[in-house]
Amino acid sequence: MNKAALHKISYGLYIVTSGQGDKFNGQIANSMFQVTSNPATIAISINKENYSHELIRFSRKFAVSILSEATPMTFIGLFGFKSGRDVNKLQNVKTKTGITGVPIVVENTVSYIEVELEKEMDCGTHTIFVGNIVDCDVVSSDEPMTYAYYQKVKGGKSPKTAPTYIKDEPAAGAQPSSRYVCSVCGYVYDPAIGDPDNGIAAGTKFEDLPDSWTCPICDADKSKFEKEK
Ligand code: FE
Repeated sequence: MNKAALHKISYGLYIVTSGQGDKFNGQIANSMFQVTSNPATIAISINKENYSHELIRFSRKFAVSILSEATPMTFIGLFGFKSGRDVNKLQNVKTKTGITGVPIVVENTVSYIEVELEKEMDCGTHTIFVGNIVDCDVVSSDEPMTYAYYQKVKGGKSPKTAPTYIKDEPAAGAQPSSRYVCSVCGYVYDPAIGDPDNGIAAGTKFEDLPDSWTCPICDADKSKFEKEK
């Protein structure tokens, strides 16, 4: 079985928000699709270990923000590699309150969809949540980020709780010997790409990064990086 075949599936990159009362959270998801148009419904796949899973079940509502191609890796890292049990991810992010009361991320967002939970399907490690669309709107005319763009252009990886995570997945791109991997989150620093979100030009060797440079996804310092084997 060649699991590279699964990398050809054309996902997007989204932030799912949920919660009620004083408990809210957002997380990155790449598995979302429209199920039916009448009534208008969408489905998302969420890992049972994630805080958002608990909040969606508890509040029975969620929103999906479709991210733009220009979304910085730090923003994706905040929602993709940190747990809402440890940090308030929505604290310093631009949101609006949806008609269900769910906070909707509108920063780096192309459009959003707000739903009320209709049904769920137990799929082992994940649950598929299906919701009726109660509101949606376009926020900007930017291009939506595809998962392929995230992986190839931004050098992004899947967290271990993502439906698309593959252990030891080979990273696409340049010479393996010149790349360094973050031992905390799996981000790969590729000198061919650099870290443009943080002012590091393409062509900058890992060794030449300033000591103050940290992982654009999880903030780990340079000492946490290992040369890619
Ligand atoms: Fe990291």
